[in-house]
Parts: sequence; C-alpha cells; structure tokens
Amino acid sequence: MTNANPVRVRFCPSPTGNPHVGLVRTALFNWAFARHHGGTLVFRIEDTDASRDSEESYEALLDAMRWLGLDWDEGPEVGGPHGPYRQSQRMDIYAEVADKLLAAGHAYRCYCTQAELEERREQARKEGRPSGYDGRCRDLGPERIAEFVAEGRSSIVRFRMPEESITFTDLVRGELTFSPRDVPDFGIVRANGAPLYTLVNPVDDALMEITHVLRGEDLLSSTPRQIALYEALAKIGVGNGGVPRFGHLPYVMGEGNKKLSKRDPQSSLNLYRERGFLPEGLLNYLSLLGWSLSEDRDIFSLDEMVRAFEISAVNANPARFDLKKCEAINATHLRELPLDAFREACAPWLREPFAPWAPEAFDQVAFDELAPLAQTRLTVLSDITANVDFLFLDEPVRDEASWKKAMKPGAREVLASARERLLAADWKAEALKEAVLAAGEEHGLKLGKAQAPVRVAVTGRTVGLPLFESLEVLGRDRTLARIDVTLERLAQEAD
Ligand code: GLU
Ligand code: ZN
Repeated sequence: MTNANPVRVRFCPSPTGNPHVGLVRTALFNWAFARHHGGTLVFRIEDTDASRDSEESYEALLDAMRWLGLDWDEGPEVGGPHGPYRQSQRMDIYAEVADKLLAAGHAYRCYCTQAELEERREQARKEGRPSGYDGRCRDLGPERIAEFVAEGRSSIVRFRMPEESITFTDLVRGELTFSPRDVPDFGIVRANGAPLYTLVNPVDDALMEITHVLRGEDLLSSTPRQIALYEALAKIGVGNGGVPRFGHLPYVMGEGNKKLSKRDPQSSLNLYRERGFLPEGLLNYLSLLGWSLSEDRDIFSLDEMVRAFEISAVNANPARFDLKKCEAINATHLRELPLDAFREACAPWLREPFAPWAPEAFDQVAFDELAPLAQTRLTVLSDITANVDFLFLDEPVRDEASWKKAMKPGAREVLASARERLLAADWKAEALKEAVLAAGEEHGLKLGKAQAPVRVAVTGRTVGLPLFESLEVLGRDRTLARIDVTLERLAQEAD
C-alpha cells in the first residue's frame, strides 16, 4: 500500500463510566498530532470486557468527542478500511490470532490454578526472587498436558516473552530498557476464551497500521510486552510488520499532589459541560497538561495548537491540574467570542432545566442588551443564569446573606431617597447613577455603599452585572415596584 502520509494514531478508550479529563487530554494530544502531520486519527472502542463496558458509556464517549470538536477519520459512524472499530465486533479476529500465536510457539497454554500461582508468588517474594509468573507451563510435554486436562483444569493462553531485554525510544521520555526479569510471560486469553487487553490492543494497532501510540504514563509498563507481541505478530504475518513508536504522556496530579483519578469529581467531563466551559477553553487548558505553545503564551486556539504541536515538546514531568487556571483560561476564551456566538452559547442556560423563570417570561431583547456586559464578566456560561434572572423573574431571588450585608442601619433612608430621585430621573444608566450617587451623598455614603441596597432590592444579590445598565434594561416601573416591596419589608423589620 502506498500512502504519502503514514502518520496513523489512535484514541482507544474503554467504554466504562463517564468520560474524564485524563481521557480528553489523551484524545486531544492524539488528535493534535494527527492534524499537525496531516495524518489519520483512528477512534477505536475497546469494549472486550462485557462486565464493565456499557452502551451508555459508548454513547457518552462519542458525544464527548463531538462536543469537544475532536473529529476522527476512521471509527464509529465514519467507518474506514480497518473496521469494525468496536473490539466487541472483532472477537473472531482475536481468536484466530491467538491460535496462530499458539501454533507458532509464541504463546502457550498455562494450566496453573490461581491458588498455585499465589503460593509460588508468595514463595518467590520470601526468597527475594521476582514474583511474576515463573514460566512453569512454558514447555509442558503432551503427557503432562493430558494429565492436567484429565484433572479437569482449565487453561489460559500466555505469551512467551523473549529472553532478551527490550529497549525503545519513548517520544517523550527518551530511551528506556526493560529487562526480561521485569516482564514475565503474561496472559492474553482467559480460561473462558475471552481475549485480554494485552492481546487485543496490540493486535488492533498492528491491523490498523498504527504508527504512533500516544497514551498515559500509567500504561508504560505494558509497552515492553506490547513491543514483544508486535514482533511476534510480524513473524506470523499479522499486520504490516511495523512496531509503532510510543510516547507516554505525563501523569496528571490533582488535589494534595495525588494522581487525578477518574473517580475524582473534579475529573468528570460532564461537570465542565454542565458548568458551561467552552470546548476550546477546556481543550486549551488540557493541552497545557504536559505541553506548551511557548513560555509566555497560555491562551491559544486549537488551530494554533495544531500548527505548533510537536510530541518532542511534551514534558515528562507530572502536570498539575489547576481548576482556577482552567477557569481563567475559559473566561478568556469567553471574552474572545464574537458577541453573537456568546449569546448563542448562553442559550442552554436561559431555558429549562437551568432557568428558574417561566419560559414565556424570557425576553430576548432585554437579554441581548445585557449580554455584552455579561461577556466581560463570566467565568463559565452557567453563571449567566444568576446574572440575568432578575430580568425574567416576577420577583427577584431572595438571598438572605446579601440582604444582611446590604440592609445595614440607614439603608432604608438611602433607599427611600434613591427611589424619589429615580422616579424623577431620565431612564438612562448615567442619569440613574447620578440619582443614586446623590441619594448616597445626602446620607454621607459613597456610591458603593449607597447602591448596595438598590442592587439587593432589584436583583436580590449584592453581586451582579453593572447596576445602572441593569436598571435601564429592567425599566422604571419594575425597578420602583421592587424598591417599594423592599421598603415595606424594611419597615416591617424596623417595627
Ligand atoms: N483501552 C485502553 C485504556 O482505555 C487503551 C490504552 C492504550 O492507549 O493503549 O486504558
Ligand atoms: Zn502455568
């Protein structure tokens, strides 16, 4: 086969649980690498473990990739010449490869029971020998095998590791060597015939002609085994004979300098979607977990990342997941959206189930007027709801902490005076500000102090969008009515 561009990478998650940020980082680096080199990204689903995999998770993975905008060239939905791309649909292939490996002597049947393995492992540990599989069944004669079978023992298929050490140059870590002592023979097919990750992953990499394997450091220990297996596959004519190059991406550390785990709530992709991160903001941040565009630039677009992405620039040191920085980067991407795109992006948080107002109360014109002010302030899109709810609720929310903070002694007087001046004011932000400023001065208060009771009366909260623009959009009648309600409550509280 001739192919001008041989770069072929894969993203091959198992569909278990919900997508997490570690997975997204792996997908992103593979995607950026493929796009940078004009190569091919294969999306493969490693669903050979029926007890853990679920259809729901499979759908969630596809949905996540679509939301992120990470497109793939071969895989579910798009197909491709190396399909099927779900391992659960490739079981015949694995069975055939396992038979070939057995026939050629690259693998053998191991009849050891769990109890025997455990006992010998324990013994080896006591004697300070390596505690991995000891090769007991490597060269069983036919009589011994017949005996085991007669005893009713079941067997797994084990791969026969070569006697020599294995050296490879990791694209991130440089040259690494594993001695045979560290890599014992390993199982590739369970007693019930189910093929294991150790087999199906390299078999598919070989058949799908993968050239570069970029994945998390947690998989580094499986690499020497996979390299040995590729070499065996080449000898039995599975795949085109090449061994991919490997690059292991650094660990991502979470709170307390512990590895960020997929069970960590902070690592759930859904959380970021629900909070209203932009895909480009989240991906920008995740790209920094092990890579950087340049020392002085943290903010960039995906296109810029693709143009600059080199695997050799990936850092082997663990990266720390910093939620604050992730939020700050997202905020910057929000500011950079064209206004229309920003308004559009807010839309999900302006309706059910996020919006607390009646759907018919939503007023697009009012929202559009305040949107530019919101765009310079939000960290995540979900913040929009609380920033504009005062426009669409009949009564503003009641936030008791805000009430206590704003309604200090004297608040009632200043609010009453503000009401009078607002009544007479031209209904434009600048004039409204003058009105509240004057009310404050009358009572010896600076603008900040004077506007707090007005803000809480009208929006329910002490923090929000610029007050006078908000009042302008809300309108005179509604503003004054809310101040009246508040004055009444203050009067009651004073009694
Ligand atoms: N299915 C494996 C996982 O999700 C893939 C690992 C690999 O990239 O080789 O951990
Ligand atoms: Zn054995």
